[in-house]
Amino acid sequence: MRILIAEDDQVLADGLLRALRSSGAAVDHVASGTEADAALRTSSQFDLLILDLGLPRMHGLEVLRALRGRGSALPVLILTAADSVEERVKGLDYGADDYMAKPFSLQELEARVRALTRRGTGATSSSIRHGPLEYDQAGRVATIDGRMVELSARELGLLEVLLQRAGRLVSKDQLVERLCEWGEEVSTNAIEVYIHRLRKKIEKGPIRIATVRGLGYCLEKINA
Ligand code: CA
Repeated sequence: MRILIAEDDQVLADGLLRALRSSGAAVDHVASGTEADAALRTSSQFDLLILDLGLPRMHGLEVLRALRGRGSALPVLILTAADSVEERVKGLDYGADDYMAKPFSLQELEARVRALTRRGTGATSSSIRHGPLEYDQAGRVATIDGRMVELSARELGLLEVLLQRAGRLVSKDQLVERLCEWGEEVSTNAIEVYIHRLRKKIEKGPIRIATVRGLGYCLEKINA
């Protein structure tokens, strides 16, 4: 999962980055409205935007309006000051999916982030299932036939992306974009290594990560 945070309060942003990274997301941060707008115009790989409304240089509402004006359905969670009912209403009217009034608990924010990203993939609970393979996004646990599979944070991230698009092709470039934050160097060769490790752990029953030569990977279920 890849999240963009637009927040000019550095302390709050640091807390958000830490919490969301520890739950396994790749998180990028900008501190102004104009940077948020530029990032959203150039990348369509985000799964969620956490948007402070009181941003310098371009107001959060303007960032949101421009985003929706381009036809983007990206889930947006706005952060507002506790006393600004009017802004909150405007934000929702402008197409935000949810809001949190400051100050808020990080735990609640994480739960809302899970709910919003779930909605984005059409799933209805916090777990994604494909045959005997199940991944619980809240607990960050993967199981096959109910038995837990030990996976590293990177392998879990990779599995999550493949599961969200099970049965469909995911290119190596898409995997790099979904898993890596700005400034992080992960080559497509490294992706091959992670895929190799993940295969060894999950290809025990009917689940396969098929290689589509030159294009990418596809999570499949072989019929016995
Ligand atoms: Ca602010």
